[in-house]
Amino acid sequence: MTRKRILTGDRPTGKLHLGHYVGSLQNRVRLQDEYECFFIIADLHTLTTRPEKENIAGISENVREMVLDYLAVGIDPAKSTIYLQSAVHAVYEMYLLFGMLVNISRVTRLPSIKDMARAANIDEEVLPLGLAGYPVLQAADILMPRAHLVPVGKDNEAHVEITREIARRFNRMYGEVFPIPDAMIGQVPTLVGTDGQAKMSKSLGNAIFLSDEPIAVRKKVFGMYTDPNRIRADIPGTVEGNPVFIYHDVFNSNKAEVEDLKTRYRQGVVGDVEVKEKLARALNDFLAPLRERREQYASQTGLVERVIYEGTLRASDEGEETVRLMKKAMGLTGIWNRISRKARKAISKE
Ligand code: ATP
Ligand code: MG
Repeated sequence: MTRKRILTGDRPTGKLHLGHYVGSLQNRVRLQDEYECFFIIADLHTLTTRPEKENIAGISENVREMVLDYLAVGIDPAKSTIYLQSAVHAVYEMYLLFGMLVNISRVTRLPSIKDMARAANIDEEVLPLGLAGYPVLQAADILMPRAHLVPVGKDNEAHVEITREIARRFNRMYGEVFPIPDAMIGQVPTLVGTDGQAKMSKSLGNAIFLSDEPIAVRKKVFGMYTDPNRIRADIPGTVEGNPVFIYHDVFNSNKAEVEDLKTRYRQGVVGDVEVKEKLARALNDFLAPLRERREQYASQTGLVERVIYEGTLRASDEGEETVRLMKKAMGLTGIWNRISRKARKAISKE
């Protein structure tokens, strides 16, 4: 029996952080034996807000760092396919064909498009078509390997929903080509930032990166936002929604220690220093094996590039097959076949 498929990935805009880990990477690692996995390096997606050449020039370095992060968390290139989106031709073709099946207001209503436009200083009145089409491109990515499951953070759930609509619409209009993919939200739907903002994000400067050195982790933890009402260690504090304790819950494997800290925090008999010291240690314990694996992979010249190269060839084959199935279902193949048959006949008579 063939395994069901996973498609997910990230934009190569820098190093990955703890939010990416709990939102998606953790599920990828966990499911890579059960599913056939495709992990996309979504470089075309960076062009939706930054099409200029300087951005494109910086992509290569980001790709390398990101794939090192993948390998560091335990994604195994022998089991999973890691590929470069812009090198897979099928994605461009599918994007155009899917564009026929979506109406503009459906995508421009999405809060994520508005957020991205705002973050990039783009006026909603002059929204680039490419940015409005972001969810359609994401649908092309997900449906390229005809995926069944999409492990993503909460912020991406609405895009998977559009993908489902496109897949259903295509199947209804032309015939069954696509499975209807399900989103799988991570252990933590959206991880808070170190500054207490709702989402840990590179662009907000509130991220702890998977590749951060122990000293950097400690420094970020000591700068973390906690209960703002607790101005002294002897004042009872609130644990719920407190970023320091959210991180303890997720990353500290010593559950007894976490419970003890929470109890004492609520009673006002523990200092922030102790809570943070223990969090920094827990995070560094969690990150230590990742750092080691990252080093190992980084030191082997050409290894990362080979992983991407082989993955991209594999993904391209898959994409070609999907486009073939699509065009056949749509009747596009027939047009070309009839024309070329007659043309060849005419040529052979010359
Ligand atoms: P950032 O927002 O940090 O700049 P990004 O927007 O470049 O990151 P995406 O490529 O949009 O990252 O996201 C990659 C995956 O990681 C998506 O599935 C997204 O939902 C998930 N993700 C990103 N940040 C978080 C977070 N703080 N908590 C949970 N999941 C997250
Ligand atoms: Mg994002």
